[in-house]
Amino acid sequence: MNKNYARADIQAIAGYVPGEQLSGTVIKLNTNENPYPPSPRVGEAARAFDWESLRLYPDPTALPLRECASRIYGLPRECILCGNGSDDLLTIALRTFVAAGEGFAYPEPSYSLYPVLAQLQGARRHPIALDGDFQLPDDVLRQAGEARLLMLARPNAPTGNSFPKEAIRRLCREFPGVVWIDEAYADFAEDNCLDLVGEFPNVVVSRTFSKSYSLAGLRLGLAFGDAALIAEMNKLKDSYNTDRFAQAMGVAALEDQEYLERSVARVKETRRRTAQALERQGATVLPSQTNFLLVHPARRPARDLFLALRQEGFLVRHFSLPRVEEFLRVSIGTEEQMELFLEAMGRLDR
Ligand SMILES: *Cc1c(COP(=O)(O)O)cnc(C)c1O
Repeated sequence: MNKNYARADIQAIAGYVPGEQLSGTVIKLNTNENPYPPSPRVGEAARAFDWESLRLYPDPTALPLRECASRIYGLPRECILCGNGSDDLLTIALRTFVAAGEGFAYPEPSYSLYPVLAQLQGARRHPIALDGDFQLPDDVLRQAGEARLLMLARPNAPTGNSFPKEAIRRLCREFPGVVWIDEAYADFAEDNCLDLVGEFPNVVVSRTFSKSYSLAGLRLGLAFGDAALIAEMNKLKDSYNTDRFAQAMGVAALEDQEYLERSVARVKETRRRTAQALERQGATVLPSQTNFLLVHPARRPARDLFLALRQEGFLVRHFSLPRVEEFLRVSIGTEEQMELFLEAMGRLDR
């Protein structure tokens, strides 16, 4: 037996399990990437990028990127923090707001990274069970108890639904700690909570370039919050958590809002058509405000169908978690990919 040198609490946990990244000819509908390329402006910026500048450290505050985000999202630059993906920002949040032994509240089922972050930080977990329609229960505040941080994804993953904005506003007003609204999918939704940042001193909204902007490989995220909260989080981040290249590409992507809108509109149209077709096949599809669908198969157990699809080169996501284990989470691909997927579902879900 080799000795294990890691902290006992780290040895005891499994860690986060990301969706598979297979090579070969697969139709990849398992990690909610965008099927379309990023804006051509990102391509131009990449070709024009001064590679020799990589010998120099990046701007630790990512100022040009924050100034650009400030223009696009209408919040002052001191209210913006950049992250190496938004997961980096979520880690910074746990470290900034929750000391070991203190409480961290989050809905369940939701993003499976949240409980892992709690374990890594040694936080006490306050999972809040969503109701039968995957909505927030009436007693969220009671269930959150003495938690220092309440983090929720809106729209939620992997369920795909959103929560009424008025309920969120009430939580922001009444919750005694920080309310973190993870808006990874907000560009695909009917509304968002960015305006709550100016309304409350205890609210942070995070966004990612990984989904709507088609830049999952770049690793870039943004957090918006009261300047005092952002200043505290700044102390916790790696000094150079976003690199020179990512900062430059991020500016190019933000500046092409027209492309973003077109890309999102295409995904939403394919989402609508795919949901309709699946329902015609007899599956149950939950209403989605994201770039994925949560699908209850018509006949076959979800795990079984997941494996059968995988055999044919269709990679979707199955979670062995209570309440969602009967579903498959299917990212929205191109029209052509979804037609092939629907054909396979028609054959295999029986
Ligand atoms: C994809 C996702 C993120 C984070 O993505 P990054 O690639 O780290 O920016 C955060 N929250 C939820 C709910 C997500 O689905």
